[in-house]
Amino acid sequence: MRDAEKKREYQKAWWERNKERKREYARQYRAKHRETIREAKRKWNASNPERHRFTNYRLRPAQIEEMRQVQGGRCAICPRMLDQSRRSGEHVDHCHKTGKVRGLLCHHCNNILGKANDDVEILRSAIAYLEKHALSSTNA
Ligand SMILES: [Zn+2]
Repeated sequence: MRDAEKKREYQKAWWERNKERKREYARQYRAKHRETIREAKRKWNASNPERHRFTNYRLRPAQIEEMRQVQGGRCAICPRMLDQSRRSGEHVDHCHKTGKVRGLLCHHCNNILGKANDDVEILRSAIAYLEKHALSSTNA
């Protein structure tokens, strides 16, 4: 017990003496290996989807299943069926400002929102653009 206390005190003192150096080393390592770290995280998230979803969205598997049922197993935007067997087949969509989970989306719809920066005006403008050109092509 005494030895354990001594060891803890020694480790605490060592950390106090070295923390800035260790933090700087870790910061430089992360900067130098950014892509490797990103790829390792992506692989880990793909093979541990339940942990990933809990860590990032505080969602348990039962809550995800409930969302699937509420959405009838389909993407919350388009009629595609969500495909849990594929890594890219089902995305937990969340608001990037508040972190609030909005729904489950297929890969395509998740990309649409991401590319449009979740900006409603850009998406409205895209709809208006498509409608305008759909009308002009049928009239031509
Ligand atoms: Zn979709």
